[in-house]
Amino acid sequence: MIKKLAIVGGTHGNEFTGIYLLKKWKNTPELIARSSFETEMLFANHEAHAQNKRYVEHDLNRCFSAADLTNDSLTSVEQRRAKEINQQLGPKGNPRVDFIIDLHTTTSNMGPTLLITKKGKFYNQLAAYVKLHMPDAMVSCDEDHKTNEEHHFLSTIAQDSVMVEVGPVGQSVLRHDVFEQSEQMTGLILDFIELHNRDQVPELPETVEAYRYIESIKLPLTADGERAGMVHKDVQNQDFKLIEPGQPIFVTFDGKEVCYDGEKAVYGSFINEAAYYDNNLAMSLLEKITLSTR
Ligand SMILES: [Zn+2]
Repeated sequence: MIKKLAIVGGTHGNEFTGIYLLKKWKNTPELIARSSFETEMLFANHEAHAQNKRYVEHDLNRCFSAADLTNDSLTSVEQRRAKEINQQLGPKGNPRVDFIIDLHTTTSNMGPTLLITKKGKFYNQLAAYVKLHMPDAMVSCDEDHKTNEEHHFLSTIAQDSVMVEVGPVGQSVLRHDVFEQSEQMTGLILDFIELHNRDQVPELPETVEAYRYIESIKLPLTADGERAGMVHKDVQNQDFKLIEPGQPIFVTFDGKEVCYDGEKAVYGSFINEAAYYDNNLAMSLLEKITLSTR
């Protein structure tokens, strides 16, 4: 039974959609109210937002492993903020809130994506419910083999959580379509939890199509770590589309195509995500999976 739920925005300071949804709902709390649980809101990284940045010193959404939260030697802006948020919503391991929805956006062409970091029938049914009402929604399972303690995402303070990840939208930009999709997906998650709490989950499709994260790959780099190329135009914007072995995925600045050298076909997400400017990540690779709602 979920009794207390938190909706978090602004975990990344330049992802405006979640921040402005929180402002909207502050004035219209009835939109996120459901009768079987309490909903609160949290603006996670004010300081980064004030500087119009993803983060000030460290990516806040990588600061929430149980080990890091209890490590007193970690004192950057975000490491301290993570401990404050953990006090407010958690603490991880024995949290005050039962469920967290963390709102994110991406510059990649991922559409409305439900990111799940835990396995189980509850999540499979949630995914099926969201997809039933929002057929364009994608479902992506991100390291769902890990325990909550191991996960470094803010949302994993709570025992149960999801991230809403919608794109494409530029950093520090509001787009009407992305704003609407984020709001719709959040509403469907709240609706599902309400139905689940009341033991009224409706008949759902037996299975739901999803993707599971395999690994991230980097852009081609020179020996001294400079970018030697970029994402190939045939892969740009093709999130959740098939990438076949031997298919060009990068092009170097001297015009050579670099092909995908994996053994089996995969799918891409976070393709050419702008936020990965500092780590040269080119995309995530995913496999297609089927989740069972029974
Ligand atoms: Zn984000």
